[in-house]
Parts: sequence; structure tokens; C-alpha cells
Amino acid sequence: MDHPIRKVALTGGTHGNELTGVYLVQKFLAHPELVQRESFETLCMHTNVGAIKQCTRYVDKDLNRTFTLEALNDYSATAYEDALSKVINQKLGPKGSDETAVDLVIDLHTTTSDMGLSICVSTKDPLTWQAIAYAKAQIPELNIFRWNGDTDDASFVSSIPPHGITIEVGPIPQGVLRADMFFGTEKVIQALLDFVELYNSGEAQSYTEVEIYDHVTLIDYPRNKEGAITAMLHPTLQDNGYAKVSKGDPLFVSLEGKDICYEGKESRYVLFANEAAYYEKHFSMCLADKKTIKL
Ligand SMILES: [Zn+2]
Repeated sequence: MDHPIRKVALTGGTHGNELTGVYLVQKFLAHPELVQRESFETLCMHTNVGAIKQCTRYVDKDLNRTFTLEALNDYSATAYEDALSKVINQKLGPKGSDETAVDLVIDLHTTTSDMGLSICVSTKDPLTWQAIAYAKAQIPELNIFRWNGDTDDASFVSSIPPHGITIEVGPIPQGVLRADMFFGTEKVIQALLDFVELYNSGEAQSYTEVEIYDHVTLIDYPRNKEGAITAMLHPTLQDNGYAKVSKGDPLFVSLEGKDICYEGKESRYVLFANEAAYYEKHFSMCLADKKTIKL
């Protein structure tokens, strides 16, 4: 074991309209014993308090894109989230320090897409991957997505300390709680905390591989010259998370009812299809490969 993990942060409300994390943190603040273990402390906190109050994704900009070292050192930025990220960085980090206030962040998210129980990760940190492999072994329906999306995860809350994990569950509409996903998320959190306890006591099994969905590309909706969307996610892909598409399979249907098909040579898996928050980021879905990677 390199270093024991002494402090874990469970963060919710990084996107203020993703209520699962907001209410899990509320529950853990009321019942801290649920997330305490012998060998480490657990800190529970709401991150984007302004956005939680108004039940929106953010106040001025996406908080989960403001944690690069460059952004954290930019004092000219004036958005609400630019100031907030510096406060959170002081509480959990500071990022890049040898002595961060917490060792591991587990950041809680939901998606309107049919992602089931999933973990999104792009760190190479070996301990984070061992924790993920342990959680997957306990919860076989857990999906692991190696993200390499519109930004790398160096801009995420989970990138502040050396170890970080983002949990994404769905489909859940924004501003809505779903009991099954709430308790499913809690199950993933408990597995990750159990792993940390085993790791600290030197009893964690070492995993050599794990099955993941590996990011290949992001696809935008078809748009006209003015930038307006001209087609919708195809009904065969709606609420059909991790669907496999091959050349000729429909991806979209135009407003007039015409299918628009996948042209790629390689078959891929469709993730994050029709996530509401990604309309403004100009992507409709992520295409991924399914593979088993060595750890
Ligand atoms: Zn989110």
C-alpha cells in the first residue's frame, strides 16, 4: 500500500438539478454513521449551493468544467462558479498539493440518458481503478465508462485530490428523484467505501482487469445552417442504454420522419444518448467500444 486513505469526500449537487446526489448528501449529513468506517473519515458536502437553491444545472457556467489548474489560478474570471470552484478547491485540495485535505472524492451525478448505474472515469490513477474494479465485482450491473469527452476529467470536481470517481445514474429527469436510482447510487457508494476500508487494512484483493465502455467519439444532432436541431434521437435508441449500432442502423429521425443512419465501419455502443444537459454542448450521444482492460 502506498498511502492509506484518511479522508473521503462525498459530493452532491455539482449540478444543482441532479437531485440524487443532493438528497444522498442530505441523508448522510443526518446519518453520518452510514458512511463512516474505522480507518478513514468521510466528509459530505453540497458543492454548487447556488444552483441547488434554484434547481438548475448551474448559476453561470458548468461547475464541473472549472477545476483545471489553469482555471483555478485565473482570478480574472467572474462567474459564480469561478469563485465557487476556488472555495471548493481549498476545502478538498488544493489540487496538485502533496497534502490535499481529502484523498478521494466521490462526486454524485444523474443523467436523463439510460446509463443505468455507471461510473465515469478517465484518470489513470491505479488505486481509483482498483476501487472501480472492486465495485464492479460487488455490483455486476454497474457500467464503467472511460470518459474522454468535451474536456478531460482534469476539469471535474473529482480531479481535485489524487483519487476521484464520478457516479452517473439514469435515466432521471432533471429536478426529479427516483427511489431505485437513489438506492442504487447508495449501493455503489457503500461498495467504494468498503473498498477503501479493505485497502487501508491491507486486505484489498488486487484486480488485474475490468470491463469498460471506452469513449471513441461524440456525435452532435443534425443541425441546419442556423444551428437549430433538425433531427431527434431515433426511437430505437431512446431508453436503450448501451445499444450496439452497426453501419446502416438508424441514429436519428428528422422532424419530417426520415431516418438518419450510422455510417461508421465499426460497430459501437451508444452511451449518454439524449442527455438533456448536452444539447447546449452540442452532443447527442457518445459512441464507445466495449473492452476488457488490464489494470
Ligand atoms: Zn451532472
